[in-house]
Amino acid sequence: MTNWTAMRERKAEVKGRANEPSAMFTRCRVVGCSRPARAGTGDGLDTRFCRAHADHYARHGSPYRASYGAREINPYRAAALAWLEANQSDTYVANTVDRVATLLRTAGPHVEAFRLRGLSPQERAKAAWARLRRAGIDPRRMVAAWLAVEMIIRDDPQAERKTEFKQVQAAKLIHRMASGTHKRWGEGPTTTELHVYPRPRGRVLRHIGEALEKACELLIEKHRLPALEAPKKDRA
Ligand SMILES: [Zn+2]
Repeated sequence: MTNWTAMRERKAEVKGRANEPSAMFTRCRVVGCSRPARAGTGDGLDTRFCRAHADHYARHGSPYRASYGAREINPYRAAALAWLEANQSDTYVANTVDRVATLLRTAGPHVEAFRLRGLSPQERAKAAWARLRRAGIDPRRMVAAWLAVEMIIRDDPQAERKTEFKQVQAAKLIHRMASGTHKRWGEGPTTTELHVYPRPRGRVLRHIGEALEKACELLIEKHRLPALEAPKKDRA
């Protein structure tokens, strides 16, 4: 075989491959989105979506459903916490709170914000638990966060019901309970802000949420979640 034919064959092969539907050239999976799919997020979470939808997915746990706002979910958190307090002698409630307390206790040493950078998502998740411990956050508030997410999804007919969405929603709530020092200088357009602990994204949120989900698993299985008693009158 001369070099010439080898070259021609290679050319044909490359051309053939380019005509195949390749994973590199597919469209974003979100219905109605025509952008090409690409390796989206910084932590390489997903390649099925375009940059914008992959980003959304990493941040909210769903490529298209946004996170619940504070005004929507806070009544659920309050109801869940009240329910936990009223039932604190219940075996499953006590056990769940205990599990979360164990998560906090075994999260390892506190990590300074400037040391987070080089850590894996798993290690950053542990650091988040350690931060909650250091801030002295009541583990019942973390259990309440999970219950609140379960409750709001139960009451939302259009909810995203995937576990991953729940994990991210709950993780965002509990991360905010101890997100470090947020400093602000100045006023108006010259305001300088320093957020010491970066908002977690992608895998960090999923690791946090997964651990919380596991801790609450039995409670969810054994108890019917409390109903939200306060009517949503003040919505309008
Ligand atoms: Zn898209």
